[in-house]
Amino acid sequence: MAHVNRIEPDLQFIKDLQAAGGESLKKCYQCATCSVVCPLSPEENPYPRKEMIWAQWGLKNKLVGDLDMWLCHNCGTCSDECPRGAKPADLMAAARNMAYQHVAKPAIMGKLMSSPKYLPILAGIPALLFLVAWYITAGLGTPVDEYGNVLWRLVFPIMFIDLVFGPIALAVAVIFVLGVRNLIKIFNDSPQAPVGGVPIKDVLKSTWQVIKDQILTHTKWKECGSDNKDRFIGHLGIFFGFIGLFIVTAYVAVAYWLSVFTDLELYTPMSLWNPFKILANVASIALIVGLVLMTKRRLNLDDAKFKSSYYDWYLLGLIWVVTLSGMFSQLLRLADAVGFAYPVYYIHLVSVFMLFAYLPWSKLAHLVYRTVALGYARSIGRDPKPQA
Ligand code: SF4
Ligand code: SF4
Repeated sequence: MAHVNRIEPDLQFIKDLQAAGGESLKKCYQCATCSVVCPLSPEENPYPRKEMIWAQWGLKNKLVGDLDMWLCHNCGTCSDECPRGAKPADLMAAARNMAYQHVAKPAIMGKLMSSPKYLPILAGIPALLFLVAWYITAGLGTPVDEYGNVLWRLVFPIMFIDLVFGPIALAVAVIFVLGVRNLIKIFNDSPQAPVGGVPIKDVLKSTWQVIKDQILTHTKWKECGSDNKDRFIGHLGIFFGFIGLFIVTAYVAVAYWLSVFTDLELYTPMSLWNPFKILANVASIALIVGLVLMTKRRLNLDDAKFKSSYYDWYLLGLIWVVTLSGMFSQLLRLADAVGFAYPVYYIHLVSVFMLFAYLPWSKLAHLVYRTVALGYARSIGRDPKPQA
């Protein structure tokens, strides 16, 4: 008797995928043009055609556990060439958006990040927290020091900031560690995995190689076949801008505690010529350049071929708010514009909270998950096809 494979479509998953950005997936008629033109897809078992049919059939487990969706760099070549306007690049992005909910726990956070209707809750939590702190420290007033200078710590003491963001950093790190472990387990359970799976330490070793060879140099972006130079430079600006600001933030946190427990005087605000201050300003400029280019690209996308999802705009919008509020709060502080400086700094803190506390469920989480997936792909020899 012939073997029968019973397919059990998850209809809700199809609807969720469409809501997460894959709204045109049903137009696909499986011609495979997308897999042929994709500049990164391997010769064997290529993507994204197979993902299109898994999506149409509602095969949630296959799609959520798919290694290949992380190898896609969203260049859009497949959507450009698709004769049906099925937008396979959008489907691959939507599948990644769904995977954030599946991999990072608690999943309820992924749900809250999936729709604008939950935005008031996500923004309301830090907005209330920092408002209460402001009320306690200054009665919502705008205090200055004895020289008439604006000082953030008069309203938001550094110890309070550390007490908020320290545990958040720890929690995000733990969620990512567990998420990466989940992801590797999912890959090891998939048909692509070698017998017995790949040990975590081998995946991490390959991941380190990927960081050195691909992530820092953005080589896959160059190979991605996209003639969109703006996208490449924009992503580079945002990537290195974040790294620069991360270094400065870590320095400020450590410097404060060194000042408390030693004779070193490393208090903020730093002088404009302090190397860390210079790094902060250069990183902010890199971020602005990246944001302008990425936003311009998104606004100019041809709707018939690409559609930006809520996940795209949430992240882009939030990084805009973080960057502009950070730059303007500095300028307003230097200008001693007391009435405006504190409210803008308050907005900055709320947006920074939203960026980092919800990071494992946002599109920015691809920084971790894609890197590990590329490491896994390398460890099983699933390298992209060579360029012609
Ligand atoms: S997504 Fe488009 S190009 Fe790819 S198989 Fe479907 S119809 Fe063909
Ligand atoms: S978006 Fe680019 S990398 Fe991703 S599947 Fe399409 S062609 Fe390939």
